Parts: sequence; structure tokens; C-alpha cells
Amino acid sequence: MSEQTQPNVAMVVMAHPDDAEFGAGGTVARWVKEGWEVYYVIVSDGASGGPDDATEVGPEQRLVWAGIRQQEQLAAARVLGVKEVIFLNYPDGMVTPSLELRRELVRCYRRYKPLRLICQSPERNWFPQMFLGRYHPDHLAAGQAALAAVYPASQNPWDFPELLQEGFLPHRVLEVYITGSPNPNFPVDISETVDLKIEALKAHTTQTGPDFEGMGERIRKNVAQMGEKYNLAAAEVFHRVENGGLPAPVPAPAPEKSN
Ligand SMILES: [Zn+2]
Repeated sequence: MSEQTQPNVAMVVMAHPDDAEFGAGGTVARWVKEGWEVYYVIVSDGASGGPDDATEVGPEQRLVWAGIRQQEQLAAARVLGVKEVIFLNYPDGMVTPSLELRRELVRCYRRYKPLRLICQSPERNWFPQMFLGRYHPDHLAAGQAALAAVYPASQNPWDFPELLQEGFLPHRVLEVYITGSPNPNFPVDISETVDLKIEALKAHTTQTGPDFEGMGERIRKNVAQMGEKYNLAAAEVFHRVENGGLPAPVPAPAPEKSN
């Protein structure tokens, strides 16, 4: 490998605990099975994930909820075989695509040297309903910061020169998989790992219970629907972007079905 020192490392940058499993749990499980080392970076502390009818929402309660959400995230990551979860602990609900966050993400990329990155879309997809997180400002902000950290900052020694001083050398991420984008162009076949995705989502008990069976069924239906267009039994779809001149490390997706 030329400037890339570690093959087969992937990183998932998401705003909240549970975003990774909802958007890409089947893909993460598949890559782990294929031998990839997968690292999570969770930007916010998840502290805003308490019950909707809560009336006590001070710092103490937020701390409790942050702890619960992080334990759930660790449990979900274990189900999928994720190597390590890094929590950046920005306050939930207040994530912005700041230079500070960009710098932290560049530090993560240069430290772990992922070849593949999964992140959220910085662009709304104008889905007709606001639920499912497609409009959450933290998602848009985390996506914006994650992409800005890939190009050009991570690979450019002139960006954040203080990181060079810390010993973090430039690193090029080769492929980015964006979830929740308005124009997905790439399916990942998760027919072998959809059960693990659902099992991992179950670990986010405070977010997905108590009617988990119903949610599990909806998710199965949803990934089946996404796969249909590509003749796959189940898929997660992404907007996939390459970054750099190396040959594409994954085969092209199956052609779309012509109706
Ligand atoms: Zn979220």
C-alpha cells in the first residue's frame, strides 16, 4: 500500500447513538464479516434521548441519559463486531459543523486511517415526513463536518498544522458512503446481515422499545424495499463517492432493474 498504511479499516461517523445501526447496521456487520476493522465515532452525547414527556431535563438528567445511551451504543456495537466506539460528547441537539469538530474528525481519520467512511448526509432529502431523523440538524451538521474532514483536511498537511505537530500525518480516505442522501447511488447487499442489524437496534432499548417487534418488522420491510430496485433481498443504500485515483476497491453494484 503506498501512502495508505493500514488496509481494511472503516470508520462510521454519526451524530447520535443508534444512527449507525439505523442507517448502516447491516453494512457494518457485512464488512466486519469480510474482515474489515470498523470504528465508530459518535459526535454527540445522546443526552436529549430521554422520554418525550419528561419535565426534569437539567444537567443531572442529561448526564444520566448520556450514560444510558452510550451503554446502549456499546452493546449494539458489540452485536455488529465493531472494534471500538469513540464518543466525542458534543451536547446532543447542539451539534454544528464547526472547525473544532472538523479538527477532531481529522484527528480520528489520521489516527485510525480508515479507507472507507460512512457518514450522514449534510443535505436534506425532503422526505415528506420529518420523523426518522432525516431533518435532524445534528445529522446534517455531523455529515457536513465528516465530509469536510475527508476532503481536503485529512489528506492535506497544510490544514490544521497543529495536528502535524501532534504527529498525525495526512491520510486519504478512499471511499465515502453517505446515508440518508437525496440521491443514493449504491446499494449494499445486507441479506446475510439484516438479522444482526435488527439485533443491534434492539440494544438501543430506550429508543426502540417497548414495541420492538413492530419496529423490527418495519425495518425488514424497509430494507427489502430498498433492495428491490437492485434485485437484492435486502439492502442499505448510500450515496457513494470515491476520493483519489486508486482503482475502486469494491465491485460495481448490480444494474438497476429496468421496468
Ligand atoms: Zn440521530
